[in-house]
Amino acid sequence: MTDIFPSSPAASVVSTRRYRFATEVVTVDNSDDPHNAASVPIYQSATFKQKGATASGEYDYTRSGNPTRTHVENHLAKIMGAERALVVTSGMGALDVITRLVRSGEEIIAGDDLYGGTNRLLSFLAQSQNVKTHHVDTTKAESVLPYLSDKTRLVLLESPTNPLIKISDIPTIAKYVHERCPNALVVVDNTMMSPYLQRPLELGADISYHSGTKYLSGHHDLMAGVIGVKDTSVGDQLYYVINATGCGLSPFDSWLLLRGVKTLAVRMDKQQASCIRIANYLETQGFRVHFPGLLSHPQYHLHRSISAGPGAVLSFETGDIGISERIVEGTKLWSISVSFGCVNSLISMPCRMSHASIPAHVRAERALPEDLIRLCVGIEDVEDLLEDLEQALLSAGALPYPSK
Ligand SMILES: *Cc1c(COP(=O)(O)O)cnc(C)c1O
Repeated sequence: MTDIFPSSPAASVVSTRRYRFATEVVTVDNSDDPHNAASVPIYQSATFKQKGATASGEYDYTRSGNPTRTHVENHLAKIMGAERALVVTSGMGALDVITRLVRSGEEIIAGDDLYGGTNRLLSFLAQSQNVKTHHVDTTKAESVLPYLSDKTRLVLLESPTNPLIKISDIPTIAKYVHERCPNALVVVDNTMMSPYLQRPLELGADISYHSGTKYLSGHHDLMAGVIGVKDTSVGDQLYYVINATGCGLSPFDSWLLLRGVKTLAVRMDKQQASCIRIANYLETQGFRVHFPGLLSHPQYHLHRSISAGPGAVLSFETGDIGISERIVEGTKLWSISVSFGCVNSLISMPCRMSHASIPAHVRAERALPEDLIRLCVGIEDVEDLLEDLEQALLSAGALPYPSK
């Protein structure tokens, strides 16, 4: 018998959640450690010796499995509410592994306000693998209906989307897909929320993945991708791809990710509270602010019903590209940077930076405002963040100077 999908070491000891999230996320099960190490050690070893010529141990070669990677996978499975989690070298690597479930001729349905790299990978699949993606407005659950067919293999959602912060009704879309297409999998890119604020597998998704580069690690000191599945047979297929292609996360990065994720709840609490203050400030100043924590957000109630909070990323419009450029360049504390989820606050212009790989005409079709500014709030003192932002708004001419 050929073993097409060998079980990996990661399949073993996923413990289920027993405490509240903030407790579980800092509590790593390391009970199998021979020396009772408080921190899971880094097994910086490519190979593991076998007990005999035919007797293989739990680990043999790090591409196939490594104890440090197993620990972070089991820990992440617990906090994601997944049957199994797998960690790879980047968020895009995670999506690449997932899209290898799609055969030539099958189809993907995805949102129309996707992460730029996701768009690039989907275009690549369309051009080279004959895998077509239908982009639909996932803020309306019904928009997926006309495209669901027996060719549909994946329905790929983000919520909130980035940078327009649109909300997808994950439970309703998952219900439509599962009723009509038993062969299709609902996949949610949960990077913006993290498992602390939203757990798509509990909302009906089959696969949830994250760029671990963002909130999960929290310090912008590593790249990682995390995939969580509800069904272990899907997990086995994904593991097969990871082992076959060699994109499993390295022992050192696995260790960094495990170290970083322990503070997810405290970081997110602080970042989110500051982001709510900043969103209110900007809205009061008259800017059009996109943030699901504001009552003015058109899907405020939907977002509330599927998540535990609005997160720490917002975007706002100034009405003028030049003003936006001056604001971004005028801040001192906010670093001009792509990405988000770091303990430091970041500011960017998505159309010039993270989303520049989307062609200008597609950005226009999708109503992506060229003047949009994205703020990713860190853990600094919020008064400093507000003061720095205000001086940048004033010197850019976005706000009138208060009369003396
Ligand atoms: C960053 C990001 C990705 C890609 O992750 P990498 O770790 O950069 O490869 C995917 N989706 C979203 C929403 C992201 O923000």
